[in-house]
Amino acid sequence: MSKNTKQQLETTLVTAGRDKKWTNGVVNPSVQRASTVVFNSVKEKNAAAIERKGKTLFYGRRGTQTHFAFQDAMVEVEGGAGCALYPCGTAAISNAILSFVKTGDHILMVDACYEPTRDFCDVILKKMGVETTYYDPSIGEGIRELIQPNTTILFTESPCSITMEVQDVPTLARIAHEQDIVVMLDNTWAAGVNFSPFDFDVDISIQAATKYIVGHSDVMLGTAVANERCWDQLQEQSYLMGQCVSPDDVYLAMRGLRTMGVRLKQHQESSLKVANWLAQHPLVDHVRHPALPSCPGHEFYQRDFKGCNGLFSFVLKQSDTSATTALLDGMKHFSMGFSWGGFESLILANEPRSFNSLRTVSNPNFSGTLIRVHIGLENVDELIADLEQGLERYSQHVNIK
Ligand SMILES: *Cc1c(COP(=O)(O)O)cnc(C)c1O
Repeated sequence: MSKNTKQQLETTLVTAGRDKKWTNGVVNPSVQRASTVVFNSVKEKNAAAIERKGKTLFYGRRGTQTHFAFQDAMVEVEGGAGCALYPCGTAAISNAILSFVKTGDHILMVDACYEPTRDFCDVILKKMGVETTYYDPSIGEGIRELIQPNTTILFTESPCSITMEVQDVPTLARIAHEQDIVVMLDNTWAAGVNFSPFDFDVDISIQAATKYIVGHSDVMLGTAVANERCWDQLQEQSYLMGQCVSPDDVYLAMRGLRTMGVRLKQHQESSLKVANWLAQHPLVDHVRHPALPSCPGHEFYQRDFKGCNGLFSFVLKQSDTSATTALLDGMKHFSMGFSWGGFESLILANEPRSFNSLRTVSNPNFSGTLIRVHIGLENVDELIADLEQGLERYSQHVNIK
């Protein structure tokens, strides 16, 4: 269990995984590329085969020193018993789920989950005969009524994607554990540090390391850190599904980890300044930044999180596609593009009707356009000026109509 304070975590991000057995005496682990591992004797080969669960060189698919160093680092940062690696966050989510279901099972999935997670449930799990029930992100104690005798996984994501609802994860986990249900969390937003999953009874903490850990928008990578109870099964079954990643990508993720503490601090400071500026803008209905009271579930953020970052949404009072296009097309510093967590600022818009297919049990109760921003490491006053001009373009379009 990780009881790391924020200060301890900042230090851990710099030191984690830097064991001499992986670094051979320099600061960083080497990039060890391998398929074949060669043995000196039959005895040595047999010993490596028995050591399947350990961090012993055996075959490239089981990882090399570069992977072992990063896996150690992730466990030091998040807690838990072990870390499995995947080629992207989406693979981490699908493989973690697949490792704990069989035909005839049932899972509970938060309604405002990351869209590809939903698609995975609706297409792949459905095809396998695993049933998904979506639940309202604010359900709390009400989750009890949705549990069935065949429920094996409760999946949480907090804050949720795009609409940013913060979930009461400890309450959900407590109820799930009354029935022996495995609790999974998509912990990408907290980057594994601002919400310590194993302090709140999560069994498996999943991240798109693609986001803040890598931090430079140049690598796809997924992680799943599991507690003692789930680690063996997660490791074994992910391995059977052939999940492995390149040591070069892992090296870059490890490098990202070293500066993540200071990057997150700056993302947090700038995003709070932008969010508070937006909150008083006449065109803005409300801001969905977990650290602001106007965000659904803000009280759980206050209680459970150690900090925030650069990603949040705000909702405009109106919905007007051509005005939104004028806003987006003229941005100077915010680029349009998927993903987030890099050093650069990003912006995307969702018209309210888009939630008709993205949400099935919890329609968000607002009628204006939602804009999601990632506040990067640029000068924050330039970012605010960019948004101010964007909202000015928006208002001109709305007024013309
Ligand atoms: C981006 C993202 C993922 C998926 O990660 P990829 O590496 O892009 O596959 C999963 N969950 C959340 C919350 C994300 O934002």
